[in-house]
Amino acid sequence: MHRSSPIGAGIQLGPNAFHCFDYLGVGDTARGMAVYVDKLRLMDALTAEEICHIPLDEPFRKRFGNPYAVVHRGDLHGVLVKACRASPLIDLRTRHEVASYSQDGSGVTVHLSSGDTVKGSVLIGADGLWSNIRKQVVGDGPPRVSGHTTYRSVIPTDQMPEDLRWNAATLWAGPKCHIVHYPLSDWKVFNLVVTFHNDAPEPVAGQPVPEEEVLMGFAHVHPTAQGIIRHGTNWKKWVLCDREPVENWIDGHVALLGDAAHPMMQYYAQGACMAMEDAVCLAHHVGQTDDLQKALSAYNAQRVLRTTRVQLGSRAIGDHIYHPAGAHAALRNALMREKSAEDWYDTLAWLYGGTGLG
Ligand SMILES: Cc1cc2nc3c(=O)[nH]c(=O)nc-3n(C[C@H](O)[C@H](O)[C@H](O)COP(=O)(O)OP(=O)(O)OC[C@H]3O[C@@H](n4cnc5c(N)ncnc54)[C@H](O)[C@@H]3O)c2cc1C
Repeated sequence: MHRSSPIGAGIQLGPNAFHCFDYLGVGDTARGMAVYVDKLRLMDALTAEEICHIPLDEPFRKRFGNPYAVVHRGDLHGVLVKACRASPLIDLRTRHEVASYSQDGSGVTVHLSSGDTVKGSVLIGADGLWSNIRKQVVGDGPPRVSGHTTYRSVIPTDQMPEDLRWNAATLWAGPKCHIVHYPLSDWKVFNLVVTFHNDAPEPVAGQPVPEEEVLMGFAHVHPTAQGIIRHGTNWKKWVLCDREPVENWIDGHVALLGDAAHPMMQYYAQGACMAMEDAVCLAHHVGQTDDLQKALSAYNAQRVLRTTRVQLGSRAIGDHIYHPAGAHAALRNALMREKSAEDWYDTLAWLYGGTGLG
């Protein structure tokens, strides 16, 4: 197993991700496996009152040309793996750990941990937060430890409190902590993700923990919000990391993509969406020219500002929307309550209107 082991069961996908599925020819399959939530709902975790919600119904879909949905990570991978297997151009090999690469004028040689090598025209390092390829392309050391600890569980729908079985991606925002839940897998379960900004100093990935540890960060929130946590079982924790944005993701015939290029906090729910946009953008540029290095540079140039915006914006909304306290939180509530659905769509157009193509 690599250190970038899968995080939890569910994932939210904005319309921009579905545009990517369409580009890859798997849009209908992807839309067929999703749960369509009605709204993104923001709750005040101290009062258990709704602060605001963003409707995701027909006007949203019309504005952005695709839905907002939640999917099981396994289902999402399944769609992509099936499409890869169906393509005669793709030779899919798992359990091949890439240790490093070397290159000369004719292409790249990948060195596997097994001692074997693989030669190709270009190498795309899509190897996640702890990317070995990035070590050579950027060489900026280990990721930044955010000090935010995320705990994940899944609640069978019949065990979720009945009055909280909302068809929404719900965020309960409290001082230095928050809870996210949404229905998943044809409403069989609720995905539950809770985060405590406890200044944890070391990265952790998928470590089982008792419920008492999870509840420790939520002693100060409303009993209704605490109650959701009590329905979780088999908790696992991650201490989250990201990186400072960098401008260059290219080294000759080698390019980075997804978390290897721009790992981000999860607060825009966009890391995987950005990885898919990267893939579309890269495929597009490779299709435009026979000069692969030129295609890699065009891809890098087109993607870097957008992903930097999402990386830095994710940190900012963590501070200003997910975790503020006191007057800071009161200001959040006042500003967010003022907005109409149209205001929200305008605010989010730069993000959800993206396609990876420009
Ligand atoms: C709590 C949390 C919630 C999130 N929620 C969302 C969300 O709702 N929506 C969203 O869009 N994003 C979300 N994300 C972000 C999303 O999970 C990541 O951005 C996304 O998985 C990145 O995809 P990737 O393919 O770049 O990297 P990864 O998913 O990390 O995949 C990298 C792959 O490379 C493999 N690998 C690693 N090293 C090597 C090696 N040396 N050799 C060979 N293979 C290797 C790994 O095994 C893995 O299969 C969330 C993240 C977190 C932490």
